[in-house]
Amino acid sequence: MLIVQKYGGTSVGTLERIEEVSKRVIDTKKAGNDVVVVVSAMSGVTNKLIEYAEYFTKIAPASKDMDMLLSAGERVTSSLLSIALNEKGYEAVAMSGRAAGIITDNTHTKARILEIDCTNLKKALGEGKIVVVAGFQGVSVDGDVTTLGRGGSDLSAVALAGALHADLCEIYTDVDGVYTTDPRIEPKAKKLDKISYDEMLELASMGAKVLQNRSVELAKKLNVNLVTRSSFNNNEGTLITGEANMENSSMEQVLISGIALDKNQARVTLRGVVDKPGVAAAIFTKLAAKNINVDMIIQNTSHEDGTTSLGFTVPQNEMEAAREVVEGTARSVEIDSDVVKVSVVGVGMKSHSGIASLAFTTLADEGINIQMISTSEIKISMIVASKYGELAVRALHKAYKLDA
Ligand code: ASP
Ligand code: MG
Repeated sequence: MLIVQKYGGTSVGTLERIEEVSKRVIDTKKAGNDVVVVVSAMSGVTNKLIEYAEYFTKIAPASKDMDMLLSAGERVTSSLLSIALNEKGYEAVAMSGRAAGIITDNTHTKARILEIDCTNLKKALGEGKIVVVAGFQGVSVDGDVTTLGRGGSDLSAVALAGALHADLCEIYTDVDGVYTTDPRIEPKAKKLDKISYDEMLELASMGAKVLQNRSVELAKKLNVNLVTRSSFNNNEGTLITGEANMENSSMEQVLISGIALDKNQARVTLRGVVDKPGVAAAIFTKLAAKNINVDMIIQNTSHEDGTTSLGFTVPQNEMEAAREVVEGTARSVEIDSDVVKVSVVGVGMKSHSGIASLAFTTLADEGINIQMISTSEIKISMIVASKYGELAVRALHKAYKLDA
């Protein structure tokens, strides 16, 4: 098999940790696999480098320089890991993003990967070497070093796995995998064996921070089987894969995969909005132009005076920008940031009825008022008052038998 392994900052946080990682890489190689390793900077290094830059300037420094600076963190780790592997008698070679053929556009500090030229990688693998790639970076079409945005090493790993048609892409962090909900909220949360790309995207965008979202999207597009697991133990992780691979995983069909809590929500309510064609279009076009991320939207049926009310949610840090946009479009504007979004996520919803009603009944039984509801094929989201967020998560976790 060809396996891509990515190790995050805490996994390579100290020299001892890099030593541990080298052993894991060797075990994988000894089992008869070809191995490409992608590494992050040692934990804290990227932030430290940013601080160094800020010593000289408070304004964002020229991004080309910033990319030269930040890409150094990953180069340090990749070189050290390669040195450790060679020292143990396993031939390895460290590669920068450029050497690994990762070609990006020239959007410095948040570049997009355009293509990967695997020539060097394939040559080294053909010679039996372990390749250790510095994550988070590439080279622009203009020949300058670029970086892929914070957390971008995940993306490097997935892109390389896709380009090399790897059998597996393992993402090593300090957590065991993806859980049915945040174990800090519900200690009975269980680690999932498998989850589909779409479910993962829904859970991740709502705070289950195991993997960078962009990398899950890319894995879906390139059909890369991802496993997230811990480098601190030998527990099996969670496989993130296509929906086709989710079926017949067990006799009992799993309907719901997880419950997510998103605390970064604010609810905007517009009362007395004129009810005629084009009004909603005007409001949401203006919000979009300001790059404000609108999530749920509710419009009421028209009132007798020819007005209606309109509600929607935005991330809390975009709340004031949203206020500016909607000011004057309605008789009154109310913004409430004391709300959270609780979501039930599962592909099983597609083929089963009664899933949504169980969510509503469960919250009703707890005396929790639902302020807004939105649904998609695999998700039911509900806005409730902040103080009920964790209670709602625990009640739903139990109702859908996720702790069983
Ligand atoms: N070192 C980079 C960061 O901290 C990239 C990564 O770790 O994935 O954002
Ligand atoms: Mg990271």
